[in-house]
Amino acid sequence: MPEPPDPATLPEPGQRRSWWLREALAREDDPSPAPPLRGSTECDVAIVGGGYTGMWTAYDLTERAPGTRIVILERDICGGGPSGRNGGFVHGWWDQLPLLVELYGAERALEAARASEQAVQQIGQFCDRHGVDAWFRQDGYLQASASPAQDGSWDRAVRVCRELGVEDRYVPQTAAEVQARCASPRFRAGVLMPGGATVQPALLARGLRRVLLERGVIIHESTDVRGLTPGRTTRLATDHGEVRAEQVVLALNAWAAGWPGFRTRLMTWASYIALTEPIPSRLRELGWTGGEAVTDSRFTIHYFRTTRDDRIAFGAGVGAAGYGGRIGRSFEGDRGAVARAVSGLHHLFPSLADVRIDDAWGGPIDISSDRLPTVGSMHGGRVHFAHGYSGNGVGPSRLTGRILAAIVAGAGDPVARLPIVGARPRRFPPEPFRYVGARLIREALVRKDESEDLGRRPNPLIRLITRIPRLMGYRFGH
Ligand SMILES: Cc1cc2nc3c(=O)[nH]c(=O)nc-3n(C[C@H](O)[C@H](O)[C@H](O)COP(=O)(O)OP(=O)(O)OC[C@H]3O[C@@H](n4cnc5c(N)ncnc54)[C@H](O)[C@@H]3O)c2cc1C
Repeated sequence: MPEPPDPATLPEPGQRRSWWLREALAREDDPSPAPPLRGSTECDVAIVGGGYTGMWTAYDLTERAPGTRIVILERDICGGGPSGRNGGFVHGWWDQLPLLVELYGAERALEAARASEQAVQQIGQFCDRHGVDAWFRQDGYLQASASPAQDGSWDRAVRVCRELGVEDRYVPQTAAEVQARCASPRFRAGVLMPGGATVQPALLARGLRRVLLERGVIIHESTDVRGLTPGRTTRLATDHGEVRAEQVVLALNAWAAGWPGFRTRLMTWASYIALTEPIPSRLRELGWTGGEAVTDSRFTIHYFRTTRDDRIAFGAGVGAAGYGGRIGRSFEGDRGAVARAVSGLHHLFPSLADVRIDDAWGGPIDISSDRLPTVGSMHGGRVHFAHGYSGNGVGPSRLTGRILAAIVAGAGDPVARLPIVGARPRRFPPEPFRYVGARLIREALVRKDESEDLGRRPNPLIRLITRIPRLMGYRFGH
């Protein structure tokens, strides 16, 4: 890996909203926040969190049960969290098929993977139906190897897809085929998920918000939910008010890691994105004009895609681990993580070393122990939740929103019986062990990936540390 550039020469993250969200807000007639909740109110369904999970749940409820009184409570603005600042990769779980088979058996694994694929289509259908131009394009998701250590990391998933008759969903690519799509000098062979898509994430989130408001959903922004009191009617306490609801949905993403009941279910790690200036001729030189979403095959993955105005949004899962579920400055203002992301860009595309970086931002990722989301219910089946996307939530939150709406509406829909419903992934240790472990392992994983990028064998201690999660029964690490 090239030496990371001096962070002082790069845009400082956390100073303003992401480029995606600024662009989306600039297009709105009235981007002012919805009024915060003041006083007390009642509703049928209260949703805490105005990201994709909360908003898809509300959207599907308006479809299934029109007239349901729905209130969304969001501490920031809808789309202000990772839903408005992610990489915009949208894909199903074909790469996760071996894990799904191991956990749930072939038949249920296929059901889940098919539902995750359908979710991608449903995002495109939503955009068409409601005139939401969120740049939805289904040009495929290419995963490439960028070092000998990464070669064939997809082999098992390719084999399982073939065994289960879905080999067209996850298709191996020769080195020449990879080069034809995106000519990084580091790329070797790869694998293509043809159904993968990209979106401009904030335009999707804000489009959803617009549709919900048109459908009569009440949204309170700048409204932090401070506590939940279960009962026949669940009470949610906010800074200046209270909501009493028949049913509650907690759509909290990484913030759930600090919520009672979920603290040992999730870890939080930060991911950062750097955005280049527009570089149309450079993209043509790379032959990367087909709109594919691309990643390398590191554990601390580099993920990158192009924009409508021919920039590269280049992300890296290299940020720090969080303590006690607190989502503080390290998730938004880590200049070192931005420099690491830019160093990844220069490593994979040395010809872009002189390209200006126009923006950079970060956000939290909710890591579950099996790296799949879980949907569940508690408090007598009146409080429901979905989280644990582990950095892959744009497509899957379309599915969990659908599941949550089905559960809330009591519709007996088969989607509410998918295996991620009621799953109980292994717990993480309590604090401070969770933080110390997450930090140590995170750092070791980054170092191992960086050594392998340089063709070096990581030192034995680093290798040992990266194996600890799997030795403890978690489904990540090496
Ligand atoms: C930098 C980055 C890049 C990513 N790239 C991709 C990608 O390319 N593809 C992909 O599939 N996934 C990606 N992800 C993950 C993806 O963004 C998430 O999985 C997805 O947005 C989850 O949606 P959500 O609605 O559950 O969470 P969020 O969008 O985080 O929404 C949760 C909301 O809850 C609010 N909230 C929290 N606590 C409270 C409270 N007490 N009271 C009121 N409101 C509260 C928060 O403010 C937040 O808006 C990325 C994430 C990051 C950070």
